[in-house]
Amino acid sequence: APRIGVLALQGDVREHRAVLEAQGARTSAVRRPEELDGLDGLVLPGGESTTIAKLAHRWGLLEPLRAAVRGGLPAYGSCAGMILLADRLLDAPADQQTIGGLDVTVRRNAFGRQVDSFESEVDVAGVPGGPVHAVFIRAPWVEEAGEQVQVLGRVSGGPADGRIVAVRQGSVVATSFHPELTGDTRLHRLFVELVRAAA
Ligand code: GLN
Repeated sequence: APRIGVLALQGDVREHRAVLEAQGARTSAVRRPEELDGLDGLVLPGGESTTIAKLAHRWGLLEPLRAAVRGGLPAYGSCAGMILLADRLLDAPADQQTIGGLDVTVRRNAFGRQVDSFESEVDVAGVPGGPVHAVFIRAPWVEEAGEQVQVLGRVSGGPADGRIVAVRQGSVVATSFHPELTGDTRLHRLFVELVRAAA
């Protein structure tokens, strides 16, 4: 079984691990640099990206995480995880650091202060069987994506119509929404397959 680490500094770690395990992966918590050793894939959970980035910096994890993703370790980030995988941020504290790996500009809390959370159906390229029921919680969106970035999904309808909410660049995948909270396992299955293919 592929070994997938879940960054476990803050956020919905348990939910990601449960879905990944149900897809046949073996999971482990990543809190220290050594815990990246031997992984086939890495998941960055939803939560609070400012907190996760600060803790990663404090525990000496930021550079090892950057090196791992740069070195080709497949990674999937949901919500705060998408923010962590972005090369550039908008509406973030000036000193907020990221792991990077996606040539995108991500806007934090993009859907607006009034709309803390909302749900919508999103067609995701590579996910068979109809649209994904997407749950957005103080979610970011991808404001701009570089040429190497494949747009997997956009919001359809409403004030955020057309906004990019799912992307992939090589073996790095990110969504603005939280499939780990909905019982829809298709995105995790896609990631586990990607990890298997890369291993
Ligand atoms: N707004 C959060 C952040 O900036 C992300 C929210 C989430 O992961 N649900 O990190």
